[in-house]
Amino acid sequence: MGKVLGIIGGGQLGMMLTEAAKKMPEKISKIIVLDPTLNCPAAKVGAQQIVASFKDENAIVDLANQSDILTYEIESGNSKVLKSVEDKVEINPSPETLQIIQDKLIQKKILAENNIPVADFFEIESLSDLKNKIPNFGFPVLLKVRRDAYDGRGNIKINSESEIKSAYDSFDGKSLFLEKFIDFKMEVSVIAARNTKGEIATYPLVENIHEENILRMTIAPARVSSAISEKAKQVAIRTMEVLKGAGVFGIEMFVTENNDIMINEIAPRVHNSGHHTLQSSKTTQFEQHLRAILGLELGNTELVYHTIMYNILGPKDFTGKYKPVKIESDNVFLKMYGKEESKPKRKLGHFNVVGRNNENVDHLLERVNKIKNSIQIVSINNS
Ligand code: ATP
Ligand code: MG
Repeated sequence: MGKVLGIIGGGQLGMMLTEAAKKMPEKISKIIVLDPTLNCPAAKVGAQQIVASFKDENAIVDLANQSDILTYEIESGNSKVLKSVEDKVEINPSPETLQIIQDKLIQKKILAENNIPVADFFEIESLSDLKNKIPNFGFPVLLKVRRDAYDGRGNIKINSESEIKSAYDSFDGKSLFLEKFIDFKMEVSVIAARNTKGEIATYPLVENIHEENILRMTIAPARVSSAISEKAKQVAIRTMEVLKGAGVFGIEMFVTENNDIMINEIAPRVHNSGHHTLQSSKTTQFEQHLRAILGLELGNTELVYHTIMYNILGPKDFTGKYKPVKIESDNVFLKMYGKEESKPKRKLGHFNVVGRNNENVDHLLERVNKIKNSIQIVSINNS
């Protein structure tokens, strides 16, 4: 008999995990997600849903009682509550690992202690503390929240003396840290998996292009030398050994001007920059995550086709129901997440342009540019 899989979060990541789980019925017989939005993306593809906030203690206990194995698609779950239900259900990645990662300051301290390169940082306790510590780095410098940041919403770049106070005040008393600004030449990531037996596998390095702090495009493989890819792979493996949890992790990194690798942050879950694996690889990151948490042998991570993933985001000037998106083009795979309403910058779907005819990345980029210009998110009421 397969196991009941519980997932905290039923957005697009929970949806694609659900789809992968449904392909292994002998291992997973049922999927239940906890998500506040009624009929969330995962529910639309066949997961049962508990409708409640991610932090709702009773709902997490309820999910734990109904599940054999618990995982999550968001890192903001309540790790203390998860710890309290560990006797009822196996949780992967473990609440200890989650606790480390969800506080970016603790995450950085642990990485730094283990000689994994990260940007220099200081804990910040007050406005005067901030003023005193900025000269260690000079301007510009980044002020970041320790917890619950996403899509760049927890970061402010401080460019001069006059911006310090307003930056500090805008965080409204949240716990903060200060980070050295890295003049990177590229943002990259490694999707890495560690199974419950401690075996580790990494996907090839990919290149991430952000627009206004949101991931817009992932190019697989990254346009870097093999020496840099190998360095990133070793950093990722070392990170997985240090953090220990089982599952797929998204490890965001910078390539510095000196061709060094530095970790920006880690997501203890499947990651947007791994969506290319839906078509580019023998094992998708979603299947890999399930294999890792179930203690199965990890799948093949080889990049079979060069692929570019492009995120479809809600336009800035529109909120509401939108017309269905269609793409008709060879070797282009559209994935919409079934979200009923568009909101500014909301991730509504993505498409993968797959180099099945051995096209190089430059050629794929040309195709992406044509297709992205043809996609319009418009109100269902527009004639
Ligand atoms: P997301 O959910 O998109 O990953 P986040 O809110 O968790 O965002 P970070 O990943 O810490 O935030 O930062 C968002 C972006 O800001 C990074 O992808 C990078 O472009 C830039 N950034 C972060 N830290 C630094 C740094 N130390 N130096 C320069 N740029 C940085
Ligand atoms: Mg990030």
